[in-house]
Amino acid sequence: MNGFVPPPRLLMGPGPISCHPRVLQAMSQQLVGQFDPSMTACMNDTMALYRDVFRTRNHWTFMVDSTARGGIEAALVSLLKPGERVLVPVIGRFGLLLKEIAERVGAEVHCIDVEWGRVAEPGQVAAAIDRFKPQLVALVQGDTSTTMCQPLAEIGQLCREKGLLSYCDATASIGGNRFLTDEWGISAVSAGLQKCLGGPSGIAPITLNIDAVERINRRRHVEAGIRASHHRNAAGARIGSNYFDLAMIMDYWGEERLNHHTEATSMLYAARECARLWLEEGGDNVIARHQRAGAAMAAGLEAMGLRLFGDSHYRMNNVTGVYIPLGVDGEKVRAQLLQEFAIEIGTSFGPLHGRIWRIGTMGYNARIDAVLQTLACLEQVLLLNRVTVNAGDAVAAALDIFKS
Ligand SMILES: *Cc1c(COP(=O)(O)O)cnc(C)c1O
Repeated sequence: MNGFVPPPRLLMGPGPISCHPRVLQAMSQQLVGQFDPSMTACMNDTMALYRDVFRTRNHWTFMVDSTARGGIEAALVSLLKPGERVLVPVIGRFGLLLKEIAERVGAEVHCIDVEWGRVAEPGQVAAAIDRFKPQLVALVQGDTSTTMCQPLAEIGQLCREKGLLSYCDATASIGGNRFLTDEWGISAVSAGLQKCLGGPSGIAPITLNIDAVERINRRRHVEAGIRASHHRNAAGARIGSNYFDLAMIMDYWGEERLNHHTEATSMLYAARECARLWLEEGGDNVIARHQRAGAAMAAGLEAMGLRLFGDSHYRMNNVTGVYIPLGVDGEKVRAQLLQEFAIEIGTSFGPLHGRIWRIGTMGYNARIDAVLQTLACLEQVLLLNRVTVNAGDAVAAALDIFKS
C-alpha cells in the first residue's frame, strides 16, 4: 500500500484550515523524553507564549492534549461538580455542546436560548444570574455554527461582581477576534490551533485564573500519592474523568512534573510554533489581518449578489455565513468547488442546514490570494448552476477592501 498523499486543497471552511508550513515543519522534529530538561523547557516556553495569545498573566496557562473539545470538557468537568448550577447562554451549536457536557457532569444547567444569528445581551445574562444563581457561567465567544461573536467584556465584569466563575470556549475566535482574558475577567478559557492560529487540531491551550485554580484545588483528594480532584457518588465510588482532570494535568505541567499522560510531543511543537508565529506578526496585526480578509470575503459575496447571514454587528472576523441562493443545491455547489477547484467551504447544521454556506478566512488562509481565488471559483460554480451573479464584481470588491 502506498503512503497517503493528500490532494492539494485550499481549506476555506469553518475549520480546519490549511496548516502554516512552519507549523508542519515544527511537527516533523524528533521526539524527546517527556521529562528531558529540553522538553520541560519547551513546555515552559509554550506556557509563556500562550499567556501572550490569551492576553493574560495567569500562571496556569498550559495545554490539554486533545482536540479543542477536550479542552472544553477538561474545563467543565474540573470546575463543576454534580448538583452545581451552571448558566449557558446558547447562541449556536457549541453552546449546546457546553450544555451537554455540563449535564453529563450532573450539573443543573440553565440555558438562555438565543435565536441563531444573534448574540446574548448582558441584561439577559444578568437577569438569569439573579433568578438562577449559578456557580458558573459558560459560553462560547465565536460560535462557528452561526458565525456570531459574543461580546464578553460586560458579561465577564458581571460574573466578577457577583463572585461567579466564568468559562469561555474561544477555539474558533481567538487569534482572529480580540480576546482579553484578564481585562474581561474570564476565569477559564480554552482554545484550539485549527482556526485562527494556523495549526492542526489535536491540542487545546487553556488558561485558568486564580479563582478557577482555587476552585479546582479545593476539591483535591490525596490518595496513593495522587492528588486528583474527583468527586464521589452516593456509594462512595470515584466518578468523573481521569484524563481531563485539570488538577492532575496541572501537577504534570507544574514544578513537580507528576506523570499523568505521555506528552503529545509533536502537537506541543505545533502549539509552540503557532504561538511564535502569532508573536512574530504581533497579536494586533494578526487580528487586523483576519478582520480585513473577513471584510473582503463579505464584500465580495455581497457584490456577487449573495446575501450574508446573521446580525452584521456581531459577525466573527474569520467565518462568513452566506445564504444559498434559492433553488440551488448547496451540497452540489460545495462538491463542484472541491472537485473542479480544490476549494473546501463549509455546510451548516441544525436550523441553518441547507440554508447557508460558511466560508472561513482564517489562520494561514486569511490571505488576499486565498480570498480572491475562493470568490472567483465560487462565482464560476454558481454560473455553472445557472445562478445570476454580477460576474467579476466579487473579486473587484474584495480587492478594494485589501487596497483600502
Ligand atoms: C471548531 C470549534 C471547536 C473544535 O473542537 P475540536 O474538538 O477541535 O473539533 C470547538 N469550539 C468551537 C466554538 C469551534 O468552532
